[in-house]
Amino acid sequence: MRIRLSGPLEHDSIVNGYGLRAVLWTQGCYRRCPGCQNPETWDFRAGMLVEVGEVKERLRAFKGQAGITFCGGEPFEQPEACLEISRWCREELNWNVWSFSGYVYEDLKAEGGAKWEFLKSLDALIDGPFILAERDLTLKFRGSRNQRLLHLEPGTGKILRTE
Ligand code: SF4
Repeated sequence: MRIRLSGPLEHDSIVNGYGLRAVLWTQGCYRRCPGCQNPETWDFRAGMLVEVGEVKERLRAFKGQAGITFCGGEPFEQPEACLEISRWCREELNWNVWSFSGYVYEDLKAEGGAKWEFLKSLDALIDGPFILAERDLTLKFRGSRNQRLLHLEPGTGKILRTE
């Protein structure tokens, strides 16, 4: 299995969730939100295709991380590969797992399938598109007021609390 990434894997990030975090940038997003900070990640033909096994080996080399955050682009356009990496990070590295999505929780749940399976593998989801009119630079980890930081129960996808 391969995943399309928009850039190199990062580590020691403190801006994409709590604790020191690895960050995986997926390539490809349909939403085209005005004001998006990463328009270069929209094109599904751009970026680079990487074997999931190669991603795992690169992540294993990152020491002292609390978890991983999937950013985009839209991680939920590649749910099978993201699910595989998410499960592996939890089981092999004992990391917690966060993801951003331009979709809202309710729509991902209603769609079911691999998207819901990936969502159920998470500890937290920051959901919803970036809306320029709702921009708020004081928010933690997100750019507009409509976006929610949802803390989830891994395995069930149940919302534990909203921050
Ligand atoms: S969902 Fe995210 S990556 Fe996609 S266009 Fe909107 S802000 Fe950009």
